[in-house]
Amino acid sequence: MSSHNQIVFFDTTLRDGEQSPGCTMHHDEKLRMAHQLASLGVDVLEAGFAIASQGDSDSIRMIAREVRGPRIASLARCKREDIEAAARSIEPAEKARIHTFLASSDLHLEAKLKITRAEALDQAAESVRLARTFADDVEFSAEDATRTDPDFLIKIVTVAVQAGATTINIPDTVGYTTPDEYAATFRMLIEKVPGLAGVDGKDDVILSTHCHNDLGMAVANTLAGIHAGARQAECTINGIGERAGNAALEEIAAALMVRRDKLPYTNNIKLNQLYPTSQMLAEFISFGCSPNKAVVGANAFAHESGIHQHGMMANPLTYEIMTPESVGVPSTNMVLGKHSGRRLLEQRLTELGHKLTRSQLDEVYHRFTELADRKKSIYDQDLLGLLQPDKSAVITH
Ligand code: MN
Repeated sequence: MSSHNQIVFFDTTLRDGEQSPGCTMHHDEKLRMAHQLASLGVDVLEAGFAIASQGDSDSIRMIAREVRGPRIASLARCKREDIEAAARSIEPAEKARIHTFLASSDLHLEAKLKITRAEALDQAAESVRLARTFADDVEFSAEDATRTDPDFLIKIVTVAVQAGATTINIPDTVGYTTPDEYAATFRMLIEKVPGLAGVDGKDDVILSTHCHNDLGMAVANTLAGIHAGARQAECTINGIGERAGNAALEEIAAALMVRRDKLPYTNNIKLNQLYPTSQMLAEFISFGCSPNKAVVGANAFAHESGIHQHGMMANPLTYEIMTPESVGVPSTNMVLGKHSGRRLLEQRLTELGHKLTRSQLDEVYHRFTELADRKKSIYDQDLLGLLQPDKSAVITH
């Protein structure tokens, strides 16, 4: 285990997230997002993939020039022209990182790259060495690490560490691993590769998680990796990213807060910026998160059933493990619908200035349930309308 418990949050919303369908952002949107990610407190901000396009390269350079706080990273394949383009794009940054990657699974080496394992080791070493001539901070990723032969994974990680990589990322590129298997991979690397965090009490080289959500386990796998010694978590806002997306930053951060007892790690994320950041991203890309999305979804703090609403009014801890305010959500959203009880109706009417007697409330509640059968959501104006039909229900203020 690492001798310290600080988790580095590496945000890749603008790279892995942005490259997925429906998530393209314009130049100025990326810059606004990057400023917001800095306010959120991310430690490393992967701003793009410099060689991919002139637009990507320009955006990284602008973010590197204007955004202060996070370390600014550019992705690069293990190719000279990629690494040089990455180096140029991050040049104005106060703190910069080159993130170079090479596939390590036989499937990727044979089918995609058409190179041997020996050639892969040479390319990884050469590329990390080249990147180090431009930046002190270099991350190496073994793409498809979770489907890589363990002995070869140890070899390629060893070579990258010897060549000067300062962070080693073990991506679950295709969202295939399970928490116990992923944890075992980190423990194996810490045991077998000299120089990795924890081996000799030093934290020279940090291990990193990068998990995809194809089986819905991205956050669970990330936390398992951290538990096994990883000290960097790669993630995105709203969990956007290739296919089913990446591990969601807000879920990792909220888990670290709520379950400090099981996950005793520190980090720099300002939790009350989670919701504003999520909202900003949804505004820029072509979709928001689903209503039932953990932490930042519209229903994450909404309560409709009468039993839950009653409990919430008595004590919010009955049905909430964190307050909405703690993650930047304005306030708990009590939805008036057909499952609501009369206590919430009474409370809302009181807030609207109408205090009813018990029998008046019974009558209004009866009309309310009739309306709620027909109408999905009941708004304040509907409630006021319910007071009107029966003038005998004298309304007192
Ligand atoms: Mn990825």
